[in-house]
Amino acid sequence: MTDCLFCKMVKGEIPPDIVYEDKDVLAFRDINPQAPTHVLVVPKEHISTINDLDYAHTELVGKMFMGARKVAELEGIAEPGYRTVMNCNEAAGQTVFHIHLHVLGGREMHWPPG
Ligand code: AMP
Ligand code: ZN
Repeated sequence: MTDCLFCKMVKGEIPPDIVYEDKDVLAFRDINPQAPTHVLVVPKEHISTINDLDYAHTELVGKMFMGARKVAELEGIAEPGYRTVMNCNEAAGQTVFHIHLHVLGGREMHWPPG
C-alpha cells in the first residue's frame, strides 16, 4: 500500500521512533501518547482492519502479541501491568487503516474505556 502511513514507516520512508523490531512486526512510539508508554505494534504486512484477517494471519497476530510482550519488558511495565487495544473501524475509533496493537502503560488504567 503506497499511501498507507504505517507501510511507509515499515519501509523507512517515514522514520518512526522504534522500540522493537523483528522479521514480522515493527513497534514504535505513538505520536500522540495517551500514557507514559504508548507504543504501536504493527505487522510489516499491510492488513487494513481486523475484519480483513483470515486464518493465514493467525500466526502473525500471535507475533503482534509477542511484540507487545517484548515492548512491555523493554519499557519496564510488564510487572505493574499494561493494556493492549486494537480498534476496528470508525465506530471504535480506528483512524489508521493498517492494523496496530496499542500498548499502553506507566499509569493506572481505568475500566470501562470511553
Ligand atoms: P487508531 O486511532 O486506533 O487507528 O490509532 C492510530 C494511532 O496512530 C493514534 O494513536 C495516533 O496518535 C497514531 N499516529 C498517527 N500518526 C502517527 C505517526 N506519524 N507516528 C506515530 N503514531 C501516529
Ligand atoms: Zn499499510
